[in-house]
Amino acid sequence: MSEYSQFTANLLEWFTIHSRDLPWRRTYDPYHVWVSEIMLQQTRMDRVVAYFSRWIVRFPTINILADAAEDEVLRLWEGLGYYSRARNLHKTARILCENGCHLPEDYENLLALPGIGPYTAGAIMSIAYNRCYPAVDANVERVFSRYFDLASPVKEKKNKSFILAKLKKMQPDDQCRFFNQALMELGALICLPATPVCHKCPVAAFCLSRQRGTTPNRPLLQPKKKTIRIDMATGIVFRKGKILIQKRLSDDVWANLWEFPGGRIKQGETPEQAVIREFFEETNLHINVTKKITTVQHSYMHYRVTLHGFFCEISDGKNKKPALHAAQENRWVAIDELKKFAFPAGHRKLIDYLLEDIQVDRLKAEG
Ligand code: SF4
Repeated sequence: MSEYSQFTANLLEWFTIHSRDLPWRRTYDPYHVWVSEIMLQQTRMDRVVAYFSRWIVRFPTINILADAAEDEVLRLWEGLGYYSRARNLHKTARILCENGCHLPEDYENLLALPGIGPYTAGAIMSIAYNRCYPAVDANVERVFSRYFDLASPVKEKKNKSFILAKLKKMQPDDQCRFFNQALMELGALICLPATPVCHKCPVAAFCLSRQRGTTPNRPLLQPKKKTIRIDMATGIVFRKGKILIQKRLSDDVWANLWEFPGGRIKQGETPEQAVIREFFEETNLHINVTKKITTVQHSYMHYRVTLHGFFCEISDGKNKKPALHAAQENRWVAIDELKKFAFPAGHRKLIDYLLEDIQVDRLKAEG
């Protein structure tokens, strides 16, 4: 048996015994595989399982997803971040339902759909349809960079081509569904980023970085993007017991999500000054800050956001209609209704804090 055949045989045997019981692995329904692969981009497996299960209960088929309102789709996605993934799932479901509501069974047609790139198309082709296409995620890159002891950054073009060529030789014609998943699973469970469990690895016998003692330095990665800190301030204003929220523009970051008016703090401004200015710029309403609620932090991509939340009151024109300078729609909603709308993570943290804050009842009564 050649080294590559041995690699494949050992890997498949290990996967048969150790693969995790994941909901989309029970039927390999193409819709389930597609949704799981989109959710797994940038998100940990344990979180995805919970979100996936809720999603499939609410949107069990492509046509039910296509018929849903975007607000509901985003609300169900809330907390997973990278909302363009949810918008693209929804948009693609609508495109598919123009012609039978079926996910294509060929690579090129999958690639033509919104939100489906080479990795996702390869994952759907192999996992859902058991066809031999590559699906190289960060787990596979890590395993291969160690197994073949790649001494240059794994994302370099030559290394990507090298990995694809090796995969071609290793993929077993009739078991690509399991082979691709097994490689990813090996990276997720054994060939871990910081502490690979080499003594439990089914392919350890041929692993070059293990033989050469270079494993801790593999994979070589490109330098990380610098963290950018952003300070923001937002205001919660009550009118007759209801809070003003607005829906963000569709071509902006956090597109189509809801928020409390506010924005970035400029250099030299206090958070209180910023919320007063931003509120006016976005709504034409003059406000006063009455009380600090709290400060929350959250991260997305390489941004670290600090969000200062304030209770505010309208200082003039109490019944004036808020303008829409930075939003497509606004509403006055009861605090209990906030759970029906999808908010960015920072605003949701603020809402969770508010709902626990006993002062809300007092303010509602005063509003
Ligand atoms: S032997 Fe260790 S480093 Fe090599 S592939 Fe297995 S877990 Fe990764």
